[in-house]
Amino acid sequence: MILTDSVTKIKGVGPKRAGQLKGLGINTVADLVNWYPRSYEDRSKITLLSDLVPCEIQTVAGTILNVTEGRTGRRNLLVLTAFISDGHGYLTITWFNQKFLKNKLKVGSKLLATGKVEYAYRGRGQFAMSYVKDFVVYDGEFDDYNVITPIYHSTGSIKQKFFRDSIKNVFAELDNLPEVIPEEIARKYDLLDRLEAYREIHFPSTKEKLLTARNTIAFEELFLIQCGLLYIKSQTATGQKSIRHITSGKMVRQVLGKLPFKLTADQAKVWREIEQDMEKNIPMRRLVQGDVGSGKTVIAMLALVKTVENGYQGALMAPTEILAEQHYASFTETLADTGLKIALLSGKLKKSQKEELYDKIVRHEIDIVIGTHALIQDAVKFAALGLIVTDEQHRFGINQRALLEKKSAFSPDVLVMTATPIPRTMTLTVYGDLDVSVIEKLPPGRKPIRTFLRNKDRRGLIYKFVLEQIRLGRQAYVVCPRIEADEDSDQSAAEQIYEELSTGIFKNVNCGLIHGKLKNDVKEDIMGRFYSGEIKLLVATTVIEVGVNVPNACIMVIEQADRFGLAQLHQLRGRVGRGSEKSYCILISDNKSRTAMERLEILESTSDGFKLAEADIKLRGAGQFFGSMQHGLPDLKMADVLHDMDILLNARRAAIEVFADKELFTDILKEVHDRYGQKFVNILDN
Ligand code: ADP
Ligand code: MG
Repeated sequence: MILTDSVTKIKGVGPKRAGQLKGLGINTVADLVNWYPRSYEDRSKITLLSDLVPCEIQTVAGTILNVTEGRTGRRNLLVLTAFISDGHGYLTITWFNQKFLKNKLKVGSKLLATGKVEYAYRGRGQFAMSYVKDFVVYDGEFDDYNVITPIYHSTGSIKQKFFRDSIKNVFAELDNLPEVIPEEIARKYDLLDRLEAYREIHFPSTKEKLLTARNTIAFEELFLIQCGLLYIKSQTATGQKSIRHITSGKMVRQVLGKLPFKLTADQAKVWREIEQDMEKNIPMRRLVQGDVGSGKTVIAMLALVKTVENGYQGALMAPTEILAEQHYASFTETLADTGLKIALLSGKLKKSQKEELYDKIVRHEIDIVIGTHALIQDAVKFAALGLIVTDEQHRFGINQRALLEKKSAFSPDVLVMTATPIPRTMTLTVYGDLDVSVIEKLPPGRKPIRTFLRNKDRRGLIYKFVLEQIRLGRQAYVVCPRIEADEDSDQSAAEQIYEELSTGIFKNVNCGLIHGKLKNDVKEDIMGRFYSGEIKLLVATTVIEVGVNVPNACIMVIEQADRFGLAQLHQLRGRVGRGSEKSYCILISDNKSRTAMERLEILESTSDGFKLAEADIKLRGAGQFFGSMQHGLPDLKMADVLHDMDILLNARRAAIEVFADKELFTDILKEVHDRYGQKFVNILDN
């Protein structure tokens, strides 16, 4: 049997089972082997029913003697009670409101359960378990697996036992697995061989072995991804001639002099790092990470001016039209009398205007082009592209950046900026091909943004406060989770809230509405009027999430805040607190769920983007967090981006070692390609 075989080759898997497995995305033997247990039961810890102690979490096992069904009084919850015995004692186990259990709990079945045990109510000294954390019901006897038993994610018709048996059958016939990790590396980092690692994951012999197996598989994942990233880096780095910029001169100094502020120490440090990179004859690959409002734009501007000073062109790519326009406006203003020719490649240009602009770019009549991913289109060609900056990189895929890099006859310098605070483990995973600079401190004089979490019944008061602030000359945002009201949901729609506010409490105030479905010129007009201060209250969707900079706007109300992710809320909140006025962010939510409230409370308690990102990952899981970043990298199945820092660093080191051996590296790339093809293919294939 080999990994690429269909599951039907496995003993005990017929067409019907195969169909069910397909529903879980399991088609091949490899898919099944990669269906890792979600947890393990340590049966060495089973407590005899005669040895139970109150108030502790314990695992018990026994035969079901009796099952009863009832209802609780006031809340009318379904109550299922199983009475079990293990030959040493008895225990009542109760589940609340778990209807699906009705058919599972059968007299005579074996039950294994973990939970908290208490003296039963009116129980005459008997024990009861009414908080069940985890349990398994077996139809017949307990199966004779090891003491540490795998528990799989399973659905309806596919039972635990099926997974255990069929995976066991796979291992019975699989006598070797092609190794992915080179031998020396495996030895150096104490990794198990692959077959053993996978076997231990499914059927651990000891806890220690299980941990080593887990680390081996996590290492393998991270190692492959690091190899893929190294490859991308090498492709972009060695392709063509690179550019060596000279020491910054008059033009850069002039721009520095024109800034209305002094660079902060962090900005100066990052700028120094960029200058050094640009002055080397290998291409710069640098990520500037700085929380919202830390002042990354000016760094981008300086770098672009530097490349122009050296006779090259620069490109700045932003994820939204609104942001591109804002950058264009601030660049043309700050660089007004430098003679630099700046252009905005806007989506709203007519075809003829676009073509005219393409022409100018290729004839080097433009120094700096600002735009959205419209910049990537084939038609855009540069005469001498020296530097590419991507703003809010987390909104792009790495392949989008790679495409832009191909537009230069040389290997251009590359600067990417992101405000999404990403823990360092993730920076290395997602941006493993980049060096990292961090702007840690915000510019001086910022007053902290005061964040409040409020119930919906306080809306009236909140908007009264907003009105007062507007009367004092400030501007405000109101952010809503969606554009239009939906009949069968109560989500606050921007249109509806705009209606309500602009004809109600704000009827004498200039209000605006902006969302993604509006035409570009309408959006531009509204943003323009908000920048100029004409519009005082802007009702918006998340189109304003990234980059928007209106320092006079110092109050933000977020309707149904629980609908947003933490990192997203942090980004949104970053739209205020950009000037010297006191700023407020008010989160409205009437979601009563514990986790929803917990999330929002974190936001109330800290403005540290890094802490928030970590909390977000813990609460929503890395997949979700990654997903919202559209980074274009594969999901990790085993590795944990928050806690596997050591493994990640080793995997990275190992990847660099292997990279030196061309033959070996080519083999590994093949594996990267096979496994993560969809994600890496765009980059690896051209
Ligand atoms: P972000 O890092 O979120 O892109 P911006 O570049 O938009 O932040 O900067 C936020 C605000 O801070 C802007 O109004 C900008 O002019 C201002 N700013 C940037 N650097 C400084 C500084 N060194 N001192 C004072 N204000 C600054
Ligand atoms: Mg920005």
